[in-house]
Amino acid sequence: MLADASDTIVAIATAPGHGGIGVVRVSGASLADFALRLCGKTPEPRRVTIADFLAADGSAIDRGVLLYFSAPHSFTGEDVLELQGHGGPVVMQLLLARCVALGARIAQPGEFTRRAFLNDKMDLAQAEAVADLIDARTAAAARSALRSLSGEFSREVQALVARLIELRMLIEATLDFPEEELDIQADVARRLAALRQDIEALQSRARAGSVLRSGLHVVLTGMPNVGKSSLLNRLAGEERAIVTDYAGTTRDVLREIIQIEGIPLHIIDTAGLRETDDPVEQAGITRAWQELERADVILQLVDARAGVTPGDRAIAARLPARIERVVVENKSDLAGLPVRRFVVDGRVHLVLSARSGEGVDLLRDELLRVAGWSGHGEDVVLARERHIEALGRAAEKSALAERQLGQVDLCAEELRLAQLALASITGEFTADDLLGEIFSRFCIGK
Ligand code: GDP
Repeated sequence: MLADASDTIVAIATAPGHGGIGVVRVSGASLADFALRLCGKTPEPRRVTIADFLAADGSAIDRGVLLYFSAPHSFTGEDVLELQGHGGPVVMQLLLARCVALGARIAQPGEFTRRAFLNDKMDLAQAEAVADLIDARTAAAARSALRSLSGEFSREVQALVARLIELRMLIEATLDFPEEELDIQADVARRLAALRQDIEALQSRARAGSVLRSGLHVVLTGMPNVGKSSLLNRLAGEERAIVTDYAGTTRDVLREIIQIEGIPLHIIDTAGLRETDDPVEQAGITRAWQELERADVILQLVDARAGVTPGDRAIAARLPARIERVVVENKSDLAGLPVRRFVVDGRVHLVLSARSGEGVDLLRDELLRVAGWSGHGEDVVLARERHIEALGRAAEKSALAERQLGQVDLCAEELRLAQLALASITGEFTADDLLGEIFSRFCIGK
């Protein structure tokens, strides 16, 4: 549970370690006096002040820039002080301790942003975008997070809410003016269908964008020596895994984060999945199986010269059937086969060469397809699972309302539920425990 939301909080806002500048941030109801005691002067709001940051005995801990944002014109909506000192861990800790001695409490993760939300400086979707921007792993993810932070996603949700409210008013009107009921019903039916489609479209963009946040987990698997490490290196564009001619070299699960069109791909290269007595290799194989269970897509490599062998089939039989699997027939150069994509029994096969790189673009396209990316550009929404679910619920309730147009009270109730689902995205009616859950995942100082 959060302590009293009216007390003064403090945190080091910059990343731990050594840096040219380090920032300690303080937020509270009234900080003019706090600044006076810390710096020996009262700073002017929104002006840069050079100040000594003073210890209890009046000696200087550091000399730096003091920024004072007075309420409500600050990130949190409260009085905020930013102390920009020299970015060494000792200086930062001393400043932090001094602020605590002056009555501030160390902030919990995300507490500054939580206060910004509670003080109506931003809605919940925007607050989440703050964390997503900080966590962004690719430029496309960062751009998308910034769009959400500036309120683009929230405005779209609010526009849908406004349309729902209008529909609810129309439906209420049929109760008051029963003689016009049929006309109104036809109008409501039209608008409701359009609204549901727009909710679904937003959900689809949100789903496409969610992969920008979490990335796609791709597991490379297959018999020893089929070229898993080589393909990993080819995709990553760097020599990462150790490639040799001896079977069983890749003993551990190797991880590589690369990106294709801005989507982070977590590529996991598994140890050759074979029976072995070597305990080190066995440990690698156990981990490989664990990774397989969590994958979004499995790339099963086979040697194009032999095609799918009984050994490959044995591996395939042990793979989790619910996870999409693509068969990569590698070493097309040795097999003398042209690169191509084809489908057998509903399963995609790609013929390519990890060594020459020929056909690897087919694989990139295939991964984008699995990520649900095709057709989406800059309009994706960097959504969270929570948003996608809420949009899904709103679409479902709207569909129920459409089916119950004849029963006005039931229809009105479904529309009310659809509105609640949408409003939960921006946090208008959000339970405290959900807020705790969301903000606890932030980094300290944000
Ligand atoms: P892994 O055991 O599945 O990780 O296989 P490696 O990536 O270590 O590859 C085994 C051997 O096959 C190495 O000598 C690679 O250079 C070679 N190899 C991998 N892919 C290709 C390919 O597309 N063409 C050719 N000619 N050799 C390849």
